[in-house]
Amino acid sequence: MKTIQINEQFKEDWKRVLNHIANLFYEDSVIQFTQAGADMAIAFQHHIEADFTIHTAAQLTVDGEKYVSNYAIRYATEGTEKEQSIRMKRALSHVMLDVLEQYTGMTQQWGILTGVRPTKLYHKYRKAGMSEEEIFAILKKDYRLSDTKISLMKEIVARQLKIIPDLDELGQEISIYIGVPFCPTMCAYCTFPAYAIQSNRKQGRVEKFIDGLHIELREMGKWLTEHNMRITSIYWGGGTPTSIEADEMDALYKTMFESFPNPHTIREITVEAGRPDTITPEKLEVLKKWGIDRISVNPQSYTQETLKAIGRHHTVQETIDKFWLSREHGMNNINMDLIIGLPNEGIAEFDHSLNESAKMMPESLTVHTLSFKRASEMTRNKDKYRVADRDTVSEMMQMATDWTKENGYVPYYLYRQKNILGNLENVGYCKPGEESIYNIVIMEEVQTILGIGCGASSKFVHPETGKITQFHNPKDPAAYIMTFEEAIKKKIEILNDLYVKIS
Ligand code: SF4
Repeated sequence: MKTIQINEQFKEDWKRVLNHIANLFYEDSVIQFTQAGADMAIAFQHHIEADFTIHTAAQLTVDGEKYVSNYAIRYATEGTEKEQSIRMKRALSHVMLDVLEQYTGMTQQWGILTGVRPTKLYHKYRKAGMSEEEIFAILKKDYRLSDTKISLMKEIVARQLKIIPDLDELGQEISIYIGVPFCPTMCAYCTFPAYAIQSNRKQGRVEKFIDGLHIELREMGKWLTEHNMRITSIYWGGGTPTSIEADEMDALYKTMFESFPNPHTIREITVEAGRPDTITPEKLEVLKKWGIDRISVNPQSYTQETLKAIGRHHTVQETIDKFWLSREHGMNNINMDLIIGLPNEGIAEFDHSLNESAKMMPESLTVHTLSFKRASEMTRNKDKYRVADRDTVSEMMQMATDWTKENGYVPYYLYRQKNILGNLENVGYCKPGEESIYNIVIMEEVQTILGIGCGASSKFVHPETGKITQFHNPKDPAAYIMTFEEAIKKKIEILNDLYVKIS
């Protein structure tokens, strides 16, 4: 942690952005106007010229040494007040990042980009008609991204357009997320809506939740049918949607297929079966019966001590056995998640995970970098967990890049999170042709994702302007049972506003 004194009382949102930049170098850093207790000082200068050129400068002083950066960027138009503020925040971030890089000797591969969806920015410039060379130049000069990260974005965007040639027109369709909020036990890094199934079953909440979910599926399906909406993809997540019994899954899929319009045109349905300890032959048969063959079986790590340390009460062998069981039962598109930087893991453990993956060769491998999410057990008791340093995490990420390339996988989506180790990213790799459409549409925010069930967030994307409105179903099953009918009404109102009034 470092306290950085700045020479101006910036607006709160400007200060917040600069704080994000400082956090890339020093965890939990503080930015303040006063001198008291400051470890270093940064003096900023900034102004806009009549031709709309923004100039910024920063001088970092620490222990009597000075580090200086100057930056200028010219815009074609004056821009609205909001745009001017965004431009200035970016220009100040630019010089702050530069002086901190000079002082620390660290290089931030993602430059000043601190958002979740870097490829969305690439798509924005692409849709504005810019060439690959122009996009490269902007990302490098103005956002300070490394060549490697720009190339990764370019490769991912090209792949997304190959898989979904009508990506830019998908706003006319919608995708659906269905949340089942139960898991066998809670993982230490988890902040998803996940509640222990056994205790909830005893209290009758599982059955009541499922009753509510049937109603919500029917009601939302009714609206979709009445408005002849096309569904691009459906994703069952949670929680772990295979935590419930096989007959409960069967009944829910029946309701889904009966209620949703044009089921034969749905491009993809995925069911998270993340926890291997929930997978049974009966449940796999139910999936097969409904033609669902895309599932996730998530090892996270192939080191038993790690699984224990993070609260996943299943064995490594169980992951392997359930993978092969899924194959035997016709699951042809299996995703497996690995996490880089789990407690006590280093190069050797990650290498072992990659070697184990090589024996199964799932169609997709999603490589996450551990992030300390605010509400997780791991973050609350951070001192208990020893994690790899920045250089080791970067090396592991490079190992994943090399391994996937050597084994015929391609990157097809990526996202970043706050407090992610090494300021890196999560990357979805797959065998060419096995890309998950849902993962692409949710990351690029090209269409509405209608959330149904517990903890399901709906993201309504205006089909013409792209403006996003969010609505969150309650996370807690008890609250869901009480309020899902109101949630249905509210979502239908928003859908009517978006798709009925404008047509
Ligand atoms: S299996 Fe997934 S949803 Fe369930 S507790 Fe673990 S991380 Fe959370």
